[in-house]
Amino acid sequence: MGGVGSRGLTEPQMRLWWWGRIELSEGKDPCWLWLGPRHRNGYGKAKWRGRTWRAHRLSWELFREPVPRGLQVCHRCDVRHCTNPEHLFVGTAKDNAQDREAKGRGRKPRKRRLVRRWRTERSNVAGVTWQKHDKVWQVHARVPGQRAKHYVGVFARLEAARRCGQAALSAVYL
Ligand SMILES: [Zn+2]
Repeated sequence: MGGVGSRGLTEPQMRLWWWGRIELSEGKDPCWLWLGPRHRNGYGKAKWRGRTWRAHRLSWELFREPVPRGLQVCHRCDVRHCTNPEHLFVGTAKDNAQDREAKGRGRKPRKRRLVRRWRTERSNVAGVTWQKHDKVWQVHARVPGQRAKHYVGVFARLEAARRCGQAALSAVYL
């Protein structure tokens, strides 16, 4: 166990290596449970390229894209050692707090204030909007027939945002 063997791997090798480090939970949308060591706070711990990572954050980098500076990788599923990118989203610390509130873990829910700022760049993709302040593309998915928009996450690259938005729509909400 430990980080032995992972340090010198390339990115594709890491993706392969990852499958030997996780166990899938039950169900049709399983968590990728990290089998390696954990941080004290419950997050998985992985070593790669001279750094010790939170495993879920590294998973995002390996299977999605680099995390924009200053942003966090957060769990939808609330399982801290889950590394399934489908269960993760990238957001600001504020998003993370709001998500926690929405799930009832934190204090009482507040109204979302994110909608205002991002109007300057157009994505031409439904649900994908530019967030000027953080310089990221933000993705929302809307359930047909419902008014509420569901926050999916933010991305540095428009292409990744578009793909995730579509995946969220087809996988989670339809
Ligand atoms: Zn999960």
